[in-house]
Amino acid sequence: MKIILLGAPGAGKGTQATKIAEKYGLIHISTGDIFRANIKGGTEIGKLAKSYIDAGKLVPDSVTCEIVKDRLSKQDVIGGYLLDGFPRSLYQAEELSKFADVDLCLNLEVDPALIMDRICGRRVCACGESYHVSTLNGSTTCAKCGGELYQRDDDNPETVKARLGTYNVMTAPLIAYYSAQNKLATVVCGTKTPDEVFEDVCKVLDSFQK
Ligand code: AMP
Repeated sequence: MKIILLGAPGAGKGTQATKIAEKYGLIHISTGDIFRANIKGGTEIGKLAKSYIDAGKLVPDSVTCEIVKDRLSKQDVIGGYLLDGFPRSLYQAEELSKFADVDLCLNLEVDPALIMDRICGRRVCACGESYHVSTLNGSTTCAKCGGELYQRDDDNPETVKARLGTYNVMTAPLIAYYSAQNKLATVVCGTKTPDEVFEDVCKVLDSFQK
């Protein structure tokens, strides 16, 4: 399966992507993770990306599309992949269609009223796990690998507002775009736990696979 995971910031894309990739044996490709790795490594791409990420804006298409194109040219994606955070605009979707043929766009629909708390309370681990402070009971380490938890630089109220604006203007039109291609499936997250959302996600993916 070749899947796109779509959703506003705070919809739980990263959490669901990890679970989906594990269960269905897909390669998880997160453009946000790729940019953060570049920032950590001090690369030229990282230096460029940081200013956009900190401002809640999209990293320029020329850089982003090239990264994804290059990643999808690798042998390991032949068995299927999950794109988490790409495409994020109609332009990127058009570019993607030139070098990949995705089967499904899975849209995670989140209640806008919950987004700010979800993101600003998020603590993440370098291993990919993510938590909400309200469930940590004061712990600062990852229950999965023991790594130190931290808050992403862009998980602050000001940047989240900008990221939401960017999502509404640039990314939300992709819902209609993939719907028109009969490739859209929407899972409503509501107040469900990540495991409950994952059950719904699996129903969609299992029926799609048949
Ligand atoms: P994420 O981890 O998916 O929330 O992405 C974090 C940030 O990385 C976003 O707010 C953007 O600044 C940047 N980014 C991630 N994916 C893309 C993309 N497809 N196009 C442009 N910028 C992106």
